[in-house]
Amino acid sequence: MSNVFGGPPAEGAWITLTETGALNVPVHPIIGFIEGDGVGPDLWAACRPVFDSAVQKAFGGSRTISWWELAAGEKSLAACGEHLPQQTFEAIKQAVVVIKGPLTTPVGGGFRSLNVTLRQQLDLYACVRPVRYIPGTPSPMKRPGDVDMVIFRENTEDVYAGIEWKSGTPDAHRLIDFLETNMGVRVDPTSGIGIKPISPHATKRLVRRALRYALEHGRRRVTIVHKGNIMKFTEGAFRDWGYQVAAEEYSDRIVTEKALSEDFHGKLPNGKVLLNDRIADSMFQQALLRPKDYEVLALPNLNGDYLSDALAAQVGGIGMAPGANIGDACAIFEATHGSAPKYAGQDKVNPGSLLLSGAMMLEHLGWGEAAALIVQGIEAAIQAGIVTYDLARLMSGAQEVSCSGFARAVVERMPIAT
Ligand code: NAP
Repeated sequence: MSNVFGGPPAEGAWITLTETGALNVPVHPIIGFIEGDGVGPDLWAACRPVFDSAVQKAFGGSRTISWWELAAGEKSLAACGEHLPQQTFEAIKQAVVVIKGPLTTPVGGGFRSLNVTLRQQLDLYACVRPVRYIPGTPSPMKRPGDVDMVIFRENTEDVYAGIEWKSGTPDAHRLIDFLETNMGVRVDPTSGIGIKPISPHATKRLVRRALRYALEHGRRRVTIVHKGNIMKFTEGAFRDWGYQVAAEEYSDRIVTEKALSEDFHGKLPNGKVLLNDRIADSMFQQALLRPKDYEVLALPNLNGDYLSDALAAQVGGIGMAPGANIGDACAIFEATHGSAPKYAGQDKVNPGSLLLSGAMMLEHLGWGEAAALIVQGIEAAIQAGIVTYDLARLMSGAQEVSCSGFARAVVERMPIAT
């Protein structure tokens, strides 16, 4: 097994999957990394030492990560003439767990986002974004600490399926004619057309993952967010299939809102999780007015896209928002912002998003002790007023540091593991 940048490090061992899909993590796992474009190399140079220090502090050298660089983006193009060579896909499947910086979407006809391509080709169907406030971070909210949610956004269907026809093209005309002739639906003949598929299979696996997460992490509420009042057979069906998978597989652990009031007098029994649903527009209000009422959210692709960024803004913006794209066979953890090319090579941007994504990755490995050290180091640095430019400009009296300066401040403030 090799990729454009070479074979895996000799000293590590592969992560494997058990029959039930759980991770089998050796003490020296090989983990793939993609540096990314634009600010990616600055971020990676700053963050990798933080990940290694956290693992060292948590496990005293008994566990280490063997990093394996994988080719993607502009660095890959320079090396082999391709942005995403086939070997990279094979290497990601072999590594099972990968962390990546942002990738620039090349501008030009026919180019699909590299990030979307990775998600689709590897069937990374759940985009997972925890949104939690770190005290001291500037926020537009009065009580940003009330926001503590984990978003599960469907990653393969809905608008990501990308089924569209441009206005005025022969294919658009053909479809418009077909709709009128065969389905009795009249569409303005100058329209562009888009189709969004939402299937029971993709919905159920996404909602299943959200439910499992809530049950395994002691979360008490899962909310299905949809626009089913308008799009009944896609978004409405997303809601129905979500309830269905809960009833089929978790009936002993899940309580619906109706059952909560009718059978439990409004009091959620211990060990149970409340499953409810909200219409998307109302959810945006609720996220601002009653954020404490929401913990785990399951959404179709487009709703999930909007709500992820809106929630991230409530707790300090995209510089601090971590994320992961997870499938049954592999997972990619990534900074949620883009490659911010104007800051490339300046060692300037906030590494918080990639650091927190790395903490998510360590959790995913079952190395929660190391993950906690990163989070605690970030919290301590921000509370000391040590921040990068993006937060410094919103704070008074902050000490502005570089990207690598913030990463060093995090390492210095990681507590001694107990
Ligand atoms: P962007 O790279 O996220 O940058 C937009 C602005 O967000 C920056 O100018 C900066 O704001 C702020 N920002 C981004 N990352 C930051 C960080 N780590 N710390 C502090 N501030 C940060 O968005 P874009 O300019 O729209 O996209 C650039 C390229 O990235 C495009 O090719 C796009 O396709 C790609 N992209 C990739 C991913 C991904 O890999 N997952 C995601 C989104 C976009 P200020 O100017 O106010 O300082």
